[in-house]
Amino acid sequence: MKIHEYQAKEILRQYQVPTPRGVSCFSVEDAVAAAESLGGSVWVVKAQIHAGGRGKGGGVKVAKSLDEVRQYAQAILGMQLVTHQTGSQGQMVRRLLVEQGAAIAREFYLGMVVDRSRQRVALIASSEGGMEIEEVAAHSPDKIKTEWIDPVDGLTDAQADAVSRQIGLPEVALAEARSVLQGLYRAFVEKDAMLAEINPLILTADNRVVALDAKFNFDSNALYRHPEIVALRDLDEEDPAEIEASKFDLSYIQLDGDIGCLVNGAGLAMATMDIIKLYGGNPANFLDVGGGATTEKVTEAFKLMLKNPKLKAILVNIFGGIMKCDVIAQGVVAAAREVQLTVPLVVRLEGTNVDLGKRLLADSGLPIISANNMADAAEKVVAAAR
Ligand code: ADP
Ligand code: MG
Repeated sequence: MKIHEYQAKEILRQYQVPTPRGVSCFSVEDAVAAAESLGGSVWVVKAQIHAGGRGKGGGVKVAKSLDEVRQYAQAILGMQLVTHQTGSQGQMVRRLLVEQGAAIAREFYLGMVVDRSRQRVALIASSEGGMEIEEVAAHSPDKIKTEWIDPVDGLTDAQADAVSRQIGLPEVALAEARSVLQGLYRAFVEKDAMLAEINPLILTADNRVVALDAKFNFDSNALYRHPEIVALRDLDEEDPAEIEASKFDLSYIQLDGDIGCLVNGAGLAMATMDIIKLYGGNPANFLDVGGGATTEKVTEAFKLMLKNPKLKAILVNIFGGIMKCDVIAQGVVAAAREVQLTVPLVVRLEGTNVDLGKRLLADSGLPIISANNMADAAEKVVAAAR
């Protein structure tokens, strides 16, 4: 689960990580009032969306007067902000962060992710922070330093100082940098994050270390123990189809092809998408209905797929292991009737009671195209979509 920058900064403050003072706003009037209440003479007006690259897309503007704050707030609120992370349709800006302008001497990159192969949190840092970090990663990876954190010891003083020196923070800033690094690590662990990022982490003209941007992605499997994080969820930033799917405990990811897939098991769902590609088609979604696919769940899954205007055909690929094929077939028939299917439907069943399942499909009177194996199913659904 992702959150906004202003929410991420509130969490950082709880862990003693310095950030500029700022106020979140929903209107132009609020933005001007926020700048007035913050005082000073330079403010930054920042679009709040769940995607990075806002600066390059025109979603972060430095204002030198209250008039400019008003102008920028007017321009950014309601805009369809396109960044390299939003896709070409962009994301509508509904919230702003107005914060104090910082005097930047240098910009660094600081991130943490769970490194599964090492079973540790990796601390990633670079001297070349800011808006070009993707370029740095692609062209000068040697400028990116990684340190793995022992879960028993935590991020030690020695490790923190070594990383700070490697990225070129001056000695006078080491103590503050240490508390920033350790604060971020504590936040990461205590809040069950999967990713945390401060880019840029800056050194100010007077050698202070400050987080100018902040991003968190939390492990959704751990949200049950973090009601305070769940409260930060912004449904406007999430795909409506995926929200609907989560209500029915379906794992659904919208993709940009035209062949809907309904599969039980994440591994089989991945293999199904692969084989559709192999036969020259493009999946419209990833969808895992799970082990206990009831008629209700299958019906909701059909409804979700059918909401996609691009959809040209559906492939149901079920292995009846825990579930029996005849039960699945009944579910598919009932669901297809209820939603009044408008696109061709290919079904491949395998496993317990497969013959009974196939007979139920054949006897249903519905125009279901039956397939005997995955290759056959992929070939038929690709042909049907054309
Ligand atoms: P994004 O990463 O989405 O582009 P950032 O919050 O990192 O957004 O802002 C982009 C750039 O704007 C930063 O790299 C920094 O140079 C500048 N910036 C952001 N916030 C401030 C601030 N409070 N004061 C001064 N400059 C800022
Ligand atoms: Mg940034």
